[in-house]
Amino acid sequence: MSATLLRLGLWTMILALALYVIDETFADQPIGEIISMTLLTQVLVVAGAAILAGIVLRILGIGAKVVIKNRCRVCRTPIPHGALYCRAHLRTILHDEEDRTHSTRVRR
Ligand SMILES: [Zn+2]
Repeated sequence: MSATLLRLGLWTMILALALYVIDETFADQPIGEIISMTLLTQVLVVAGAAILAGIVLRILGIGAKVVIKNRCRVCRTPIPHGALYCRAHLRTILHDEEDRTHSTRVRR
């Protein structure tokens, strides 16, 4: 998502620059009249916004990746730092453990 926005922003900026070059080259011809400075400014603003959004999303994405580093060993669900399993699997494993110790006690 962030990469797409960054690419889109850069391409829009290239397009704006290309339009500016065309506008400057054919300033005294009809094609130069079509491309106005207002249009160029608007295109540049859109390109800048897309790049900015892409950068912000990328930073947020990196932040989220750092937070969601720890995952459940069974189902890969993101879990808090220091934990081994998600709530559901932790309960199942503890339950199994309890059953095992109980059955061992019964055998004795
Ligand atoms: Zn799990």
